Amino acid sequence: MLLLVRLLALLLPLAASVRLGLVPVGALLTGLAIDRDAVETTATAAVGAGAMALLVALYLQFRVVPLARVAERLADGDLEARARPRRRGVDGRFAVALNAVAQRLSETSSDATTDRLTGIPNRQALLTGLFTEVERVNRYGRPLSVAFVDIDRFKSVNDTYGHHAGDVVLRHVAQVLRSSLRHTDLVGRYGGEEFMLVLTETDIAEAGTLSEKLRLRVASERIAIERGLTVGVTVSIGVAGGIGQQVRFDTIVRDADAAMYSAKSLGRNQTYVFAEVDDDTRVPRAPVSPAGRLRALEIGRAARAAAEELLYTVVAPLPHYGGRPSRLIAALATSMADRLDLPEGEVERIRVASLLHDIGKLAVPPEILAKPAPLTTSEWQSVVQHPRIGQLILEQSGALREAVPIILHHHERFSGHGYPYGLRGSDIPLGARIVAVADAYDAMIHDRPYKRAVDHAGAVAELRRHAGTQFDPELVGLFCDLFGSRLPDEIAELLTADPAAPFVASRRRRSPRSVRPGSAAAAG
Ligand code: GH3
Ligand code: MG
Ligand code: MG
Repeated sequence: MLLLVRLLALLLPLAASVRLGLVPVGALLTGLAIDRDAVETTATAAVGAGAMALLVALYLQFRVVPLARVAERLADGDLEARARPRRRGVDGRFAVALNAVAQRLSETSSDATTDRLTGIPNRQALLTGLFTEVERVNRYGRPLSVAFVDIDRFKSVNDTYGHHAGDVVLRHVAQVLRSSLRHTDLVGRYGGEEFMLVLTETDIAEAGTLSEKLRLRVASERIAIERGLTVGVTVSIGVAGGIGQQVRFDTIVRDADAAMYSAKSLGRNQTYVFAEVDDDTRVPRAPVSPAGRLRALEIGRAARAAAEELLYTVVAPLPHYGGRPSRLIAALATSMADRLDLPEGEVERIRVASLLHDIGKLAVPPEILAKPAPLTTSEWQSVVQHPRIGQLILEQSGALREAVPIILHHHERFSGHGYPYGLRGSDIPLGARIVAVADAYDAMIHDRPYKRAVDHAGAVAELRRHAGTQFDPELVGLFCDLFGSRLPDEIAELLTADPAAPFVASRRRRSPRSVRPGSAAAAG
């Protein structure tokens, strides 16, 4: 259309002048008389039409084309695009309407990408941003890290001070995170009280250091929730990262989440940096805070016995042996914990966790647990899920929650090559290290579909062989001191007890030291 008008604006005056020039020449050649009036009328009409076409062309060029450009920019996703507003004319009305549409669009889009409570990007916007960033680092070989920041014990803030106070805390933490990071980093609310940071151009070591600073900053501030009342909160942070092609969208999110969970299970208020199980490079790890460790030692006492009993009545009749509460393991582990003079609460926690540590196996198909031959990769994948499944089961039975870290980490190895998180040495909760020894002993002295039982001495020798790699060497030493020569009678009789016999969870009584420490040397 615009092209046609421009063409007319050019051609009509041209045609008029050609016509004005050609007519006298034609008359001269042919000798015919010229009708000058007719020629001039035609020429004037042509010039008029040309001028009009020119005006239309100018109007389209300077008023309509800019509007079209704004509409195109909006269509391309540039929601900042606006037309120059004019009060009069159709184009003016059109510009105003176009701007109103643009405004609505950008409000709707911001609603869809911004978290209303905190004003920072929401989960959808975070994931979109992360996706773009992962593509960029893949292409240009750049570093990228992701951190999950979860407020510790946030539920108790809501429970104690009310939901409104919880909201104030959420806004405050969001603000601290936003204001502490660079403009190029992405900070958003991933879920309830969980935030995600996408740290551009940041390798995992830098991300660990940065996260520690953030953690300390959050912990150091008091938050005014109402006049005269302030609260403090702490956060647990999990970090994962990589460079260039190593970075994968789903694994970086999964690893950062796993690291955050490790930070929680190691006592909260700390940063945990994800490391591959076989990655021996040192990664900065915040020390477990004394307060966090103390809290980790606390036990939800009330209702535990009842919950245990109830859980047992649910699982005892189930057919597979895997996952059934083991009183033998509990008795062995409790004796060890006792001898270490652990606080009573911690001993109790270890007892409960020993009983229930394999409960997650209830979700593993029985034919896999009973398979006499080596497991296939997919079967093995099903088996290694059982600590996480145990975590899920127990997390739902509130009072047993304190046993979760022990259950979660009872397959970690002292050398750092276990699962699910590859924790090593004293990073593995003490209770989990104790259960690992007792569990291994129990496994060795009983027939398994894939392995014949060994006798007591053989099992003890095997524990010694793997001290320092699979097991905490000090705990193996302790086990040998306590049980090296033989099992005490009250524990030995559990070897023949019917595992399906009714189980009554009782509060453990601290028995007098009935266990005679056997000589480690004699146990061989
Ligand atoms: P942990 O240290 O294990 O993270 O414990 P936690 O209490 O922080 O975690 P949990 O997942 O048990 O509880 C999270 C709580 O966050 C429960 C939920 O009511 C609260 N929450 C989630 N979204 C909001 C919100 O928008 N406002 C408020 N006030 N609370 C929220
Ligand atoms: Mg959470
Ligand atoms: Mg939380």
